[in-house]
Amino acid sequence: MHKRLYPISERRIGEKCGIFGVYGVGKETARIVYFGLWALQHRGQESSGIASSDQQKIKVVKGAGLVAHVFKEKDFNFLEGDMAIGHNRYSTSMGTGYEHAQPVLSSKGLLTLAHNGNLPSTRLLESFLSDTGIETKNLNDSEMMHAALEHWLKKGIDIEDAVKNCLPLFTGAFSLLLMTKDKMVAVRDCCGIRPLSVGKLNGGYVFSSETCALDAVTATFLREVLPGEMVVADRRGLTSCMLADSQQKLDIFEFVYFARPDSQILGQRVGVVRKNFGRELALENPINADVVIPVPDSALPAASGYAETLSIHYEPACFVKNRYIHRTFIEPGEKLREIDVDIKLNVIPEFVEGKRVVLVDDSIVRGTTSQAIVAKIRRAGAKEVHFLVSSPPVKFPDFYGIDTREQNTLIASKMPVDGIARFIGADSLYYLSYRGMIKATGLPEEVFCASCFTGEYPIDIEEHTNEVSYNFERASDRFVTIPLYGQKGLLPSG
Ligand code: AMP
Repeated sequence: MHKRLYPISERRIGEKCGIFGVYGVGKETARIVYFGLWALQHRGQESSGIASSDQQKIKVVKGAGLVAHVFKEKDFNFLEGDMAIGHNRYSTSMGTGYEHAQPVLSSKGLLTLAHNGNLPSTRLLESFLSDTGIETKNLNDSEMMHAALEHWLKKGIDIEDAVKNCLPLFTGAFSLLLMTKDKMVAVRDCCGIRPLSVGKLNGGYVFSSETCALDAVTATFLREVLPGEMVVADRRGLTSCMLADSQQKLDIFEFVYFARPDSQILGQRVGVVRKNFGRELALENPINADVVIPVPDSALPAASGYAETLSIHYEPACFVKNRYIHRTFIEPGEKLREIDVDIKLNVIPEFVEGKRVVLVDDSIVRGTTSQAIVAKIRRAGAKEVHFLVSSPPVKFPDFYGIDTREQNTLIASKMPVDGIARFIGADSLYYLSYRGMIKATGLPEEVFCASCFTGEYPIDIEEHTNEVSYNFERASDRFVTIPLYGQKGLLPSG
């Protein structure tokens, strides 16, 4: 019998994160991990941790907050060893609690684990752990994965076989870094929903969620860990085996928003793909405007692609961003978020006064950020404000590691495009079409999971299936229903 011990929503913690590991690069691997985590800070700002091994004992230091806040110089003496893994945890509506910070390490100390992704269902894991007498009540998905693996290690089975035994229980999205006292193991789910790469550094190996962090520690990119693959770094060097039939289904939202623009995923530079999003957006929806302004920072490449294609003046310096505040999305609660936008962004009014402004952002999720941003541009004296989004409407919740889990918080699932335009206060609103987005990646559609746009989930979402509604007018995505200038953008696109 499967016991649901507490509500699903409370299980969904430890979400989209950054993971980084270093094997066999001298004694100060934890320090290298620290700089890797620093480069992956955009993937999670709630908590951070590093676990190291000196072949005798695994030790961990973790805490709430940014990488820079968590670690002190003395931690690196404590974390001495020739292998280490680290984790930045993404903030969710569960708050900024530290108790689920990773890497996970139990008192048995046989294994430490860093997880990027989310298991929509933990039924199999819960039932396996209950059968083996392990209490799951206070464990999240990552901690359950750790407990299942450690169960096998305790029996004397090696980590590779423990992973093979546990794989059928890991029903969801995971890029994992595992470390025993003497081995480092990287594993990706059979769809490769979350990225993971491996590089080389001074005779040792580096694993990273994104290639930008390989660059930061001057590691040379070798290749991506493949979907369904297990890569092991140990005394023998690097070995690999395929664990399951796989089909690449990278979450396309990595290209849209999450990954850093200087990272490379599936052979494509994220920033270049974003610029292509902007180009496609311009071809689909040209606006007569005086200036194109990006919402910083993730929309910068798309806005430049848009402006370049239409030969409109591009003004990246219009918004002045306070660099010392985290992403607005971190703050839970609508009220706080609105205030947060004002603290985070200010406008140089002279750049927009009396002008027809095109604002470009990478996505609209709940609509509150866009609303606040449009209002700021209007207050600064813009004559018209047109909002252009370099991805399609986000209509469906995510179950693979992004905190957009409640469909009724997604504005595009509640109203058509003209309603959203009114809500955010824009004169017009245009989205990039689904086809345009795929075309801009330069990759075939089949390699992506685009579930937040399409509602098609490549990994079974099991007990969450009934949380997803498809009951709205999809065709309206392709139209803008606020007629302004009779431009091409009023026609169906894509
Ligand atoms: P919203 O106010 O919810 O519509 O927020 C949209 C803004 O949040 C956009 O500027 C995006 O760049 C950003 N954004 C989109 N998805 C996420 C996410 N999963 N986490 C944090 N920020 C996001």
